[in-house]
Amino acid sequence: MDKKGNILMQKYELGRLLGQGTFAKVYYARDLKSGQSVAIKIVDKEKILRVGLIDQIKREISVMRLVRHPNVVQLYEVMATKTKIYFAMEYAKGGELFNKVAKGRLKEDLARKYFQQLIGAVDFCHSRGVYHRDLKPENLLLDEDENLKVSDFGLSALRESRRQDGLLHTTCGTPAYVAPEVISKRGYDGAKADIWSCGVVLFVLLAGYLPFHDQNLMEMYRKISRGEFKCPQWFQLEVRKLLSKILDPNPYSRITMSKLMENSWFIKGFKPLEPPLCNDDEDNDLDELGDIFTASASDSEGITTPRALKGHSMKPTCVNAFDIISHSQGFNLSGLFDEYMVYKPEERFTTTQSPSIIVSKLGEIAETERFKVKMKGGMVKLQGCKEGRKGQLQIDAEIFEVTPSLHIVELKKTAGDTMEYRDFCNQGLKPSLKDVVWT
Ligand code: ATP
Ligand code: MG
Repeated sequence: MDKKGNILMQKYELGRLLGQGTFAKVYYARDLKSGQSVAIKIVDKEKILRVGLIDQIKREISVMRLVRHPNVVQLYEVMATKTKIYFAMEYAKGGELFNKVAKGRLKEDLARKYFQQLIGAVDFCHSRGVYHRDLKPENLLLDEDENLKVSDFGLSALRESRRQDGLLHTTCGTPAYVAPEVISKRGYDGAKADIWSCGVVLFVLLAGYLPFHDQNLMEMYRKISRGEFKCPQWFQLEVRKLLSKILDPNPYSRITMSKLMENSWFIKGFKPLEPPLCNDDEDNDLDELGDIFTASASDSEGITTPRALKGHSMKPTCVNAFDIISHSQGFNLSGLFDEYMVYKPEERFTTTQSPSIIVSKLGEIAETERFKVKMKGGMVKLQGCKEGRKGQLQIDAEIFEVTPSLHIVELKKTAGDTMEYRDFCNQGLKPSLKDVVWT
């Protein structure tokens, strides 16, 4: 199908087909307003509905929004129509890493650079509880500056169920990158399985061919399950040793991520990247979506919202990927919506307490959690004193009057790590606010 000249959602001009996977087609596209290049992955709802993958897709979207790293393909927004889901992602201009390897093996230093970027990205995602489970050439892309971009992080569930269907052989092609415990369908640890795949990638970069290969699929499985591979003579001793620790068929004795990152071959010239270069207020890049689903956006931001009372603009800060999908016809996720709300940087509580009581309550909580409290511009500002993953956690609390006897407390993270903020809200704030929460 020729998509040239097609406009998607009045926003993107669709260009050429970049590639095709089992569930999706990926097109080049341009944001009409900003001119920015993006990649649009189009998933046929029919296909996933048929195999019952809706839950996984939802999980993936929520996960992808949490995972922001310079070496992970970023998800910009999610759109949906009756029949299709569109993922607008960061466009990796350099194409697949393995087009390079196809032209010949890489020099050790270059292979190490890509491997370090790969491990950096994978480790970051693991720290967020996200496992790839399908690290393979097609999912390792390059940007225009020759930096590695791992794609499809968070799409693991989709492939997982494909595997459970026993479709691995027919749809995924070669299992060359898959860990033995995954092939043998024993329950497995996603982290260890990813490490194995990274080892295969490293071997291929340095050798120019696969460590486990055979014309006969059964023979190939046998080699994988025994961890039977031979390094070419140009591999240095240090990297041979590392590879034998990664490509250990026993996931329990296989090297861990933290040990790998201390390895002498690995750390040579390693510059750990500051995770997320962009700030991770997940809603930022989804703000624009208001235009597309105007009707649904104003439904959720009804005229009696506190923002309207305060004379703020009706900027749809609340519209995110889940709103979009849940408001789009034929893809109703309402039943599972709550589960995903926790990922929002904004939290709201409705309360019948007066503002002064709310403020003193916030102060109490802040004290037990050792937060500094400041009042500024009608806002309660909470500042953590612990140095977190991304600096000190900082939270703004704003109180809005809905009616004289009904207020809304809105919490927003202004600095620090999203996961830490979530923990603060769910384990600290929410339980302590219980007596002022009105449901
Ligand atoms: P799978 O369905 O297992 O993920 P896949 O990775 O081959 O398989 P897609 O994710 O649908 O399938 O991607 C198809 C191809 O499109 C990729 O192999 C890649 O070449 C290209 N592609 C995917 N995402 C991007 C992107 N963000 N930028 C540039 N090209 C991309
Ligand atoms: Mg892919």
